[in-house]
Amino acid sequence: MNVFLTVDVDVYYTGNYELEARGHGLGIDFILDVCNRHGLPSTFFVDAMGATQWGEAPVKMICDLIQGAGHDVQLHLHPNVARIDGFEDTWDLLWRHDRDTQSMLLGLGVEILNRCGVQTVNGFRAGALAANEDTLRAMQEHGLTLGSNRDRDLKSSLESKLNDLFPVQNDVSRVGSVTDLPVSVLRSPIPWTDGTYRHLEVCALGALEMRDALIKLERAGVTCATILTHPKEFFYMKDGKQAIPIPKNRRRLEHLVKFLAGWESANVVTFGDWRPPVELPSTSPPEMRLNPLFSMMRLIEQGIYRVERKLSAPR
Ligand SMILES: [Zn+2]
Repeated sequence: MNVFLTVDVDVYYTGNYELEARGHGLGIDFILDVCNRHGLPSTFFVDAMGATQWGEAPVKMICDLIQGAGHDVQLHLHPNVARIDGFEDTWDLLWRHDRDTQSMLLGLGVEILNRCGVQTVNGFRAGALAANEDTLRAMQEHGLTLGSNRDRDLKSSLESKLNDLFPVQNDVSRVGSVTDLPVSVLRSPIPWTDGTYRHLEVCALGALEMRDALIKLERAGVTCATILTHPKEFFYMKDGKQAIPIPKNRRRLEHLVKFLAGWESANVVTFGDWRPPVELPSTSPPEMRLNPLFSMMRLIEQGIYRVERKLSAPR
């Protein structure tokens, strides 16, 4: 099974990339360190729109950091971050914009990443996965042939309009010349709190749950599994100046990457390196369900973390 470890790099608030994206070493740097210690490549979707608001230098710094460590940079885009003459956004949802506007944004995003030293940009993930059919057209216009804009976990505030447009669910699938790698989901055994599906995100699944989920997907015949994370899953910002580690999620990433590195069934690959086969699966794999015991353990772990964080907060 091909496994894509993907990281969305979002900077929304201050333009302070050292804090918001790098977390003073606890964000991007931590992820790169864990992956490199285990020899696994990852794909970072970097929001290029930050360059229109805060200049290209910090975006280039992030791209250099990731590529310098041997990892892949692809395009991420939050319209709300863009500061472009004649363009306005109030929703931060790409699909709300018409096709020409989407195409303008994607084209600009590719240009910015190119200027920031990313030679080949072929992958795209919209902020909040807010992509629709127009997005696919805009992607084709700019050579973005590999997307990751589907996810059935509706509890995670995701806005994809593509889930039912592709012929195969929960595995790689193609429409026109765009091949899409969805963020993988399993059914939740605790839908009263999770909703129907839970996706493979570091902050969303416990370490045992994630491992069990990957094994189940592989046994179900899934050919491509995609895991999502964000630098901010590993720290939070205090007073807008300080980065505080989140040990629970740091442990989860360590477990996940160590497991993947030693798992013979996994071919961990980046968007930049992967060449999709001409023949893709023609039917959806059977739906798998998370292990109820592991899901309960995650709820308990989450509860303990919340209490600890409350107790450690200044009074
Ligand atoms: Zn994002």
